[in-house]
Amino acid sequence: MLVKKDMQELDFSALKQDFPILTQQNRNKPLVYLDSASSAQKPRQVIEAMSHFYLQDYANIHRGIYELSELATDLYENTRQVIKNLIHAPKADEIIFVSGTTEGINLVANSFGRANWQAEDEVIISHMEHHSNIVPWLLLQKEIGIKVKVIPITDEGAMDLNVYPTLFTPRTKLVALNHASNILGTINPIKEMIAIAHAHNVPVLIDGAQAVPHMPVDVQDLDCDFYVFSGHKLYGPTGTGVLYGKKHLLEAMPPYQSGGGMIETVSFEEVTFAKVPQKFEAGTPNIAGVIGLGAAAAYVQSQGIENIFRHEQALLQYAEEKLLQIPGLRLIGTAKPKLGVLSFVMDHLHPHDIGTVLDHEGIAIRAGHHCAMPLMERFNVPATLRASLGLYNHQQDIDVLVEAIYLAKRFLG
Ligand code: PMP
Repeated sequence: MLVKKDMQELDFSALKQDFPILTQQNRNKPLVYLDSASSAQKPRQVIEAMSHFYLQDYANIHRGIYELSELATDLYENTRQVIKNLIHAPKADEIIFVSGTTEGINLVANSFGRANWQAEDEVIISHMEHHSNIVPWLLLQKEIGIKVKVIPITDEGAMDLNVYPTLFTPRTKLVALNHASNILGTINPIKEMIAIAHAHNVPVLIDGAQAVPHMPVDVQDLDCDFYVFSGHKLYGPTGTGVLYGKKHLLEAMPPYQSGGGMIETVSFEEVTFAKVPQKFEAGTPNIAGVIGLGAAAAYVQSQGIENIFRHEQALLQYAEEKLLQIPGLRLIGTAKPKLGVLSFVMDHLHPHDIGTVLDHEGIAIRAGHHCAMPLMERFNVPATLRASLGLYNHQQDIDVLVEAIYLAKRFLG
């Protein structure tokens, strides 16, 4: 278990033991993992919770009357409590397990949206959304004729708050925004933006995929109506995620998928549905994954999310200073406050070519459009390189990155 030196610092020798994968090599060089915004590595505690479940405690949940099934059910339901505490949700039954942020947004679009919207109704999103918070709304635009309105962003990468309030009309039905951008790193002023939406009686969905692993989140303080995030970015397993929704909204929504586990009674004439959250968890769920997600959230809490935030902020500052000294390097996303996401391009060099050189130096970094093509277009670039930080990164990782960028410049330039 990781031991804290004090309230501010994370203990890196202990961290190395928690994340054995990070002591490996990438192309015969020590691995430098700078791709946590895409997916985070998993601590031993998460992997052990899952393998212990499969080895010792495995059974289906909510069905058996035998001890093993009761134990599995308790372990699964315990994660609901852990997640409730992590995001300060009022009630555990407002936590719905989904396969990730993508599924959480699709659930809201296809249940809440389809049940309540008609042609000409409007949804407000922003220019800095991930495709998973664009495409579900565009599909409804095509299928039922809703309109998708887009908040522009500034050259620094902040929401244009002058335009945002002007987008509301009596037909506005939802605002759907990311808490923090996966490319720019910008932490958006969502509390204020939610208050503006609520003044128009419009509910708000927040895509918290990038925020939850890196900063404290309090859904009651934000007063958001829906909040979604992915387990795999929170040091948890793939195929897990969370949709938080206010109880009265969830209760009024029709099921998203149907089958076993989500019903109360079934006859050939009539079906009645289980209460929230079971109504939205059809079929045998990802039981081991959800147990791993609980272990991941507990791990983050044991480190202290404030400590993680402070650590990554200090590292972000160090990285920005170092990167900006490199001639020809341009950071995309300089608005503050921001998370530890550093997107950049280099004059005359293609991001994929640089990414290939970095890979040969042991560095795992993303090059591409990062599932946000409209944002690439906004900044007039085909792709960027993106270094993104996790709790296990430290200054040495940044030093190796900077050295390797100089090497790439010499090699490719
Ligand atoms: N939204 C944001 C802001 C993201 O960064 C991501 C993942 N890159 C997603 C949504 C989609 O998450 P997932 O693929 O885990 O469903």
